[in-house]
Amino acid sequence: MDKVYNFSAGPAMLPREVMLKAQKELMNWQDFGTSVMEVSHRSQAFLALARQSEQDLRELLVIPDNYHILFCQGGARAQFAAVPMNLMGSHTIADYVDGGYWAESAVKEAKRYCTPNVINVRREREGKRAISPAKDWLLSDDAAYVHFCPNETIDGIEINDLPETHKPIVADMSSTILSRPIDVSKYGVIYAGAQKNIGPAGLTLVIVRDDLLGLAKDVLPSVLNYQVLAEKDSMFNTPPTFAWYLAAEVFKWLKKQGGIEAIYARNQQKAALLYQAIDQSSLYRNDIHQDNRSLMNVPFQLANSDLDETFLAEATEQGLQALKGHRDVGGMRASIYNAMPLEGVQALVDFMAKFEKKYG
Ligand code: PMP
Repeated sequence: MDKVYNFSAGPAMLPREVMLKAQKELMNWQDFGTSVMEVSHRSQAFLALARQSEQDLRELLVIPDNYHILFCQGGARAQFAAVPMNLMGSHTIADYVDGGYWAESAVKEAKRYCTPNVINVRREREGKRAISPAKDWLLSDDAAYVHFCPNETIDGIEINDLPETHKPIVADMSSTILSRPIDVSKYGVIYAGAQKNIGPAGLTLVIVRDDLLGLAKDVLPSVLNYQVLAEKDSMFNTPPTFAWYLAAEVFKWLKKQGGIEAIYARNQQKAALLYQAIDQSSLYRNDIHQDNRSLMNVPFQLANSDLDETFLAEATEQGLQALKGHRDVGGMRASIYNAMPLEGVQALVDFMAKFEKKYG
């Protein structure tokens, strides 16, 4: 097979250039004669990597000085617990905006640590699935924070606006981080599992505003305590060094691409190409209102689901991998994160047109 394009929702494809560099220096990092995964996280070389990666990420996302960047473990799901345990303070209620599968999953976990005020923001608009505008969300006065998931990886639905609130806004950005510019100063906490737009699984990013450190409950395991992690420069325990190294390389790659504005322009182009192909066809369908369509995860259904298996088999034969939709949604899903080149989306769109001609 000439070329493979991997549309997996995560762990997802990484930039080819980064993978080639990692391959080249796998056994001999910085001329040490060993791999980066074999050196101490406290060595000067690794500490320099850690510092540089933080600086690059700060630059990419324009993260203000009053925020700490934490390189954690446990995935986004660990943060579903860490967020309430770190932020509740003396509060009992936290607002949870529910726009899809992952927001709902965060609620389930949060229930163990607080009383979530669940705000259902799903609604139908012009026959499509949509999100109600933030001004209509019924936030509670005594919530410790407002949690939401701006991009629902499974549903393929996006929340584009933020509520007007003086409460800290907490965002699960696992499948949207680094895909577009954001104003970090509007958030209290941003967290993201790495395995989509950052690097391999095993690393989790937390960006936390300094005034939110130190509110954690005593029973909180130290490895989840933002203040402990901040004070120890994310090295309270041994960090996932190889994943961190790859993330650092992805940040460098992003800067070389022209930064977040440039990657955003490319992401918009990719998404427009794919949504257009779906909208113009009579075989494919996407159920999300155009104002809330995901830039990163594009679910689509075939008019005749009997064709699903054939579609997947023929796509795989063409090197178009991992298009099967999530088990709860069915159909197809193309995840088109930063590392997916425009040619990959073009190859998918070309295949979809040929498939429709043959079976549509
Ligand atoms: N939140 C979102 C938006 C996700 O897409 C995922 C994983 N697909 C998770 C949370 C869970 O992440 P993890 O498996 O890293 O805990």
